[in-house]
Amino acid sequence: MNIFTQSKMVFLKKVVTKPLRHLAARSYVGLSHISPNGPSFGITEDQKQMQELTRKFVREEIIPVAAHHDKTGEYPWDIVKKAWSLGLMNNHIPADIGGMDIDCYTTCLISEELAYGCTGIMTALEASSLGQTPVILAGNQEQKKKYLGRLLEEPIVAAYCVTEPGAGSDVNGVKTRAERKGDEYILNGQKMWITNGGVANWYFVLARTNPDPKAPASKAFTGFIVERDTPGLTPGRKEQNMGQRASDTRGITFEDVRVPKENVLIGEGAGFKIAMGTFDKTRPPVAAGAVGLAQRCLDEAFKYSLERKTFGVPIANHQAVQFMLADMAIGVETSRLAYRLAAWEVDQGRRNSYYASIAKCYAADIANKIASDAVQIFGGNGFNSDYPVEKLMRDAKIYQIYEGTSQIQRLIISRNMFEEAKQSAK
Ligand SMILES: Cc1cc2nc3c(=O)[nH]c(=O)nc-3n(C[C@H](O)[C@H](O)[C@H](O)COP(=O)(O)OP(=O)(O)OC[C@H]3O[C@@H](n4cnc5c(N)ncnc54)[C@H](O)[C@@H]3O)c2cc1C
Repeated sequence: MNIFTQSKMVFLKKVVTKPLRHLAARSYVGLSHISPNGPSFGITEDQKQMQELTRKFVREEIIPVAAHHDKTGEYPWDIVKKAWSLGLMNNHIPADIGGMDIDCYTTCLISEELAYGCTGIMTALEASSLGQTPVILAGNQEQKKKYLGRLLEEPIVAAYCVTEPGAGSDVNGVKTRAERKGDEYILNGQKMWITNGGVANWYFVLARTNPDPKAPASKAFTGFIVERDTPGLTPGRKEQNMGQRASDTRGITFEDVRVPKENVLIGEGAGFKIAMGTFDKTRPPVAAGAVGLAQRCLDEAFKYSLERKTFGVPIANHQAVQFMLADMAIGVETSRLAYRLAAWEVDQGRRNSYYASIAKCYAADIANKIASDAVQIFGGNGFNSDYPVEKLMRDAKIYQIYEGTSQIQRLIISRNMFEEAKQSAK
């Protein structure tokens, strides 16, 4: 048993899981941060408890093992199991399925805390939410009960399979085919860069059902739930990535994979909308993850600047270093506001793509700058893996790539602006 001793387990079960049960019991929706005049980002007592629970978990369970998982690339199953037992996973599953039905805002608070400990581990947990969200948004009651319910019964994870070797930003280029044969669909193709690809129990898979290459994306694709142990489905080797190495990224091959028609989400042709609509819910937590990483960079750099001396004084006494720290703080605070606004918007039941893209893009870009500045403040030590910021800088990069690159976020933001301008001109 690692640092999680029996007595701590008892403590957590008694003291910490209690508020979670209480939240679940009243089908928790943390809406008290809404004011009639617009967003107000105060945190309710329940959200504070959730945040503190996660912070404690991160301090005791994630930070001590983060370097190990970074070095070995070992999937953090122990952490998944403990996070699952504390209700830190799957908590956005609807209450009628037995979940806690928490809002996006609270999910983001949890994500920021988890990412502070290790974004590789946070991504491993978050990717399961990414796989679940299409089912939450578009699944019928049987599908939800079967596949979301399964995730509540035991500590297993899901995955989201859209990207392919030839189609990432351009989702319309997806080539995996699904052909209807009687009561089944036969899937053939290749997915790439799938987080949790080798460890998921089931996948959300986007495949082309309309063979006409001219068919619009809004009609050409279908979303499926696919069981991991279906014959013909083969995950590839674990990819060796620059950072976030605790997370499991793989290609997946589909060779005559038979999927029952009951596993189609909504119906033929609805897949593109489901796959893209998912990001409105998942980009705010991803942005929150980047903020957690940026906050960790700032904390590490600030601490180091008080300890390290040059020219007879701590480097924190040099104004150039103070200004770097101030810029880092500006980035952390403003990107935190950005993800909170994006989460707040979607919790109002409004389309938040514009704000979600702003939050994801800004938090990702600024986290990369902050991570680079943290390395700078550490000087030579910053470039070395015995110090924490080298890992943070490697881990930061992926935030500008997955769930839509920073360029694609800018594309979405500008499209929204043009659309808005067109509407107002009418
Ligand atoms: C570690 C990791 C985990 C991932 N997890 C998942 C997952 O769980 N599920 C999943 O489905 N996918 C996942 N992805 C895939 C990820 O979403 C894609 O890598 C990403 O969307 C970019 O696609 P691409 O790699 O094909 O790059 P490309 O689309 O080839 O883009 C290459 C470059 O061109 C730029 N570019 C492309 N088109 C435009 C344009 N129109 N305008 C301006 N610039 C453009 C891009 O911004 C980028 O800089 C993951 C990727 C990684 C690396």
